[in-house]
Amino acid sequence: MTDATAQLLDGKAIAAELRQQIKTQVEQRLADGLSAPGLAVILVGENAASQVYVRNKRKSCDEVGFVSKSIDLPIDTSQDTLLEQIDRLNADPEIHGILVQLPLPDHIDADIVIEHIHPDKDVDGFHPYNIGKLTLRMPRLQPCTPKGVMTMLAKTGQELAGLDAVIIGQSNIVGRPMALELLMARCTITVCHSKTKDLEAKVRNADIVVAAVGVPEFVPGAWIKPGAIVIDVGINRLDSGKLVGDVEFAGAAKNAAWITPVPGGVGPMTVATLLENTLLAAKLATDSGT
Ligand code: NAD
Repeated sequence: MTDATAQLLDGKAIAAELRQQIKTQVEQRLADGLSAPGLAVILVGENAASQVYVRNKRKSCDEVGFVSKSIDLPIDTSQDTLLEQIDRLNADPEIHGILVQLPLPDHIDADIVIEHIHPDKDVDGFHPYNIGKLTLRMPRLQPCTPKGVMTMLAKTGQELAGLDAVIIGQSNIVGRPMALELLMARCTITVCHSKTKDLEAKVRNADIVVAAVGVPEFVPGAWIKPGAIVIDVGINRLDSGKLVGDVEFAGAAKNAAWITPVPGGVGPMTVATLLENTLLAAKLATDSGT
């Protein structure tokens, strides 16, 4: 056991640094006579949480000098109308990234919508082409949350190869691509989900724990192995209004070497990584001459 208190992996600060690097690269693009990266953000309906996320993304775009296009559609927008909108953005040379804010209303099939986005404009990294590339260790546009986590892990300066990583949650947007990222970093990965047996034993053995469950303080701090790295993806609002993660922070911080706070951990990294992906998409378009 160790009395050490974990070092904070400060997502807010790392994201600010990343945004600054992106801003510098945008200025360089403009100086080279290239266009500013352009991101289109589509929001269907008026889901309150989605409106906050979308506002954040649009604000961050402005901060780094991107062109941002806001497309707010009514909740009763048909799937065909949404697909036509995506067709127009796929063909628009000023738009390098297209983001459709999820969740979509029930009458729209999110999988069809995601597959309709041109893979080179899929800055969320959810298109089967981009997931396939990641699976084959040829990453192109990578899902933002797991890619942001890898940027944070790099900040620890720890060698990741050979570490035992336990991921709790197997969603398409977090758990699964997180597993692919950590496998590419040559960790030994265990992906846990609601049917997993003896989760405690698996977490207790982990050098890296990534929690993406969506249940407040689901992982007791006592489960964290001394010296482990704890990445808390969960964002849960308690009745009191307080935001907490999926890991019991105070207890975990006593054991871990590194831990992400909630808020101010993975959340800001996801948005900064979306900007990073949009810049990469602009470079892909420049390289292909489109
Ligand atoms: P999801 O609901 O799609 O997936 C949750 C996963 O948890 C499932 O795979 C399920 O099998 C697993 N799970 C449920 N109960 C379990 C149990 N008892 N034991 C083990 N596993 C169990 O959620 P998601 O979209 O992956 O999001 C997870 C959390 O991360 C949410 O709180 C969400 O708000 C948050 N999130 C944060 C960011 C960010 O940028 N910080 C991005 C995406 C999601």
